[in-house]
Amino acid sequence: MRDIDLFQLALGLVPPWMVADAHFDADKKRLDIEIDFKVGGRFACPECGKADCPVHDTVKKTWRHLNFFQHQAFLHARVARIDCRDCGVRLVNVPWARPGSGFTLLFEAFVMTLVKDMPVAAVARLVGEHDTRLWRVIQHYVETAVARMDLSDLRRVAIDETSAKRGQDYITLFVDIDARKVVFVAEGNDADTVARFADHVDDHNSDASRIKEVCIDMSGAYIKGVGYNLTEAEITFDKFHAVKLVNDAVDQVRRAESKRRPELKYSRYLWLMNERRLSIEQGLSLEALCRMNLKTARAYRIRLAFQEIYNCPSRDWGELVLDRWYSWAIRSRLEPIKKVARTVKRHRDGILRWFDSKIANGLIEAINSLVQAAKAKARGYRSLRNLIAITYLIAGKIDLKLAT
Ligand SMILES: [Zn+2]
Repeated sequence: MRDIDLFQLALGLVPPWMVADAHFDADKKRLDIEIDFKVGGRFACPECGKADCPVHDTVKKTWRHLNFFQHQAFLHARVARIDCRDCGVRLVNVPWARPGSGFTLLFEAFVMTLVKDMPVAAVARLVGEHDTRLWRVIQHYVETAVARMDLSDLRRVAIDETSAKRGQDYITLFVDIDARKVVFVAEGNDADTVARFADHVDDHNSDASRIKEVCIDMSGAYIKGVGYNLTEAEITFDKFHAVKLVNDAVDQVRRAESKRRPELKYSRYLWLMNERRLSIEQGLSLEALCRMNLKTARAYRIRLAFQEIYNCPSRDWGELVLDRWYSWAIRSRLEPIKKVARTVKRHRDGILRWFDSKIANGLIEAINSLVQAAKAKARGYRSLRNLIAITYLIAGKIDLKLAT
């Protein structure tokens, strides 16, 4: 068998395409394969699909292909421009690459497989390409996969923000709670992100009115966005966010009090951590502090009582405990606690909704940390569009339909 026949088979070329020549240069560590088509070859029109259009002229093109062992491989071809009666002169599609790409489909599939698990910059170094070229490939595959998404089964959605660049920029993640995947990523964290999500649902084989449950924090933006755009959805306020708000109030009490009570300095974590996760030593310090008749200790007991609400066996019971908690907190004479009590009261329905929906944002928090880890590894995404693409890639379970 001649080497060009071998390459013809390996590349899976079908007539009129054929391997015309192959040149291997061991010093330059590269393999160049020339592809051509038989004289008189005819091609389908890339626009209307009309078969057997005559060739008008040709354009020389090159594609990076999978390495041949340790050698970089390139395909070269003169690509026909056909003359279609209806569409005019058009460049034909070649079977080994996407229109406009400088890589073969197999090379792109290789890159897409790597970037799921490796930082893009590292993949770029590995394959010896500039990362902006790889980002273009990633965006293409991710964006077409997202366009194909079917959201007809989407009913329960968790919504949360995650920081995009250095603090000020945010993206909002929309997660399918049942399928456990990201179904939409929006720039920003305002009410409009929910409007764009509703449009996205409408465009993907569904209707925003089919969303029945959402889980969000108590930020006004998402409440407003859901109220306007997901009109059939019941809101559950995420219990982790709710507990965190009460926790923050405890810490404010502690900070103010520690100006007069030096024993409170450096005790921050004792009050914030889950009691079960404290070491024996930490537990003893906490106990000692609790005996000192501190405002912080009082605030702390109110926080523990708040968490107890979620252990109630039913909604009725939860309602009772929540209302009792509120009267205690509002009479605590601790300003930060009173403030958070009023917030809880204003959001009472959504907090109690948890007893029926049992949904929380634990999953989205896990996805958040994946995104943040990927962001840290990438050290700069160059653009929000790249961060959004990588988010879909690692948490969207999207079907990239890669060449095999
Ligand atoms: Zn045509």
